[in-house]
Amino acid sequence: MARRPYNFSAGPATVPEAVLRQAADEMLDWHGSGMSVMEMSHRGKEFISIAEAAEADLRELLAVPPQFRILFMQGGGLGENAIVPMNLSRGGAVDFVVTGSWSLKSAREARRYADVAVAASNEADGHSTMPAPARWQLRRDANYVHICSNETIDGLEFQTLPDLRALGCDAPLVIDCSSHILSRPIDWSRVGLAFAGAQKNVGMAGLTMVFVREDLLDRALPICPSAFNYKTVAEAGSMFNTPPTYAIYIAGLVFQWLKAQGGVAAMEARNIAKARLLYDALDASDFYRTRVAPEARSRMNVPFFLKNEALNDTFLAEAKARGLLQLKGHKSVGGMRASIYNAMPLEGVQALVDLLNDFARRHG
Ligand code: PMP
Repeated sequence: MARRPYNFSAGPATVPEAVLRQAADEMLDWHGSGMSVMEMSHRGKEFISIAEAAEADLRELLAVPPQFRILFMQGGGLGENAIVPMNLSRGGAVDFVVTGSWSLKSAREARRYADVAVAASNEADGHSTMPAPARWQLRRDANYVHICSNETIDGLEFQTLPDLRALGCDAPLVIDCSSHILSRPIDWSRVGLAFAGAQKNVGMAGLTMVFVREDLLDRALPICPSAFNYKTVAEAGSMFNTPPTYAIYIAGLVFQWLKAQGGVAAMEARNIAKARLLYDALDASDFYRTRVAPEARSRMNVPFFLKNEALNDTFLAEAKARGLLQLKGHKSVGGMRASIYNAMPLEGVQALVDLLNDFARRHG
């Protein structure tokens, strides 16, 4: 059978083919239950077993310590931009580090609920460098500090999470890890809360994963909707309201696939190799340029530009003809963007590199 195209979308994004096949096989009758997963009661023993296995596998894959609760919620990253301040800000000070479009968006939304200050920003250099933590202006009374640990649009990634305590700050760190969750380990000793939408590295849209340290569960503002109150959701085992059952099932299949691949350590090694292959090809050619400082480059989202932008449409058409899909850059940045999440094999990146080299030779 012909291979499927390689899909470089930033999200919803490529899903491991083995997961799609298994879901197809199980679509009409899950494990002899006579039901599709999407037809099951979320409180029935079949679905409970699916959700419990997914949560346990996620905890194992990311080595999530017992003092963190894992919540399966809805509302996505944009929902969390409001849900986090409603739960953690106490209506007071919260500090944001702006490293790109997503952290900027998070800060703007939090202003509706909290006293927001920007502790550091790379806006002046067009989101191309990582502000050094030693220079962040953190407030003593901050209720939390928010970062986006991988900026999907601008292509910046924290290579290590900041150690707020070492910076003299006791506030919990909140990370939006939507676009690189499970691509590398998370140092939980530095984190108070992490959230991620599922539609990049964990399958399909509709599921939001929240990892919250237990001591942060009891701070919600009275205006916080019950369905978005972390304590309420935690006490109900993520079943206060009907959870996104099919998205949880798909996430569970992705977690099993990740375990079979050797887990997060193996994925990280693969992701390093994929990113190196692509950035090396871009750096080696005068035909292309990138904007992000090498030490801040994301392993997951690689924005790049043709020096001659008049060739953009030709490039995208040639890519599509070779089965390389969704390479167009985000509208706010332009150019191209290759998202090379866990489910993108090295062969897909190699196919893109072959196109980059071939296209530059013919049009350079
Ligand atoms: N944060 C980051 C880092 C993202 O990449 C995205 C989506 N691209 C979001 C938040 C928003 O997610 P959603 O559309 O699921 O609300």
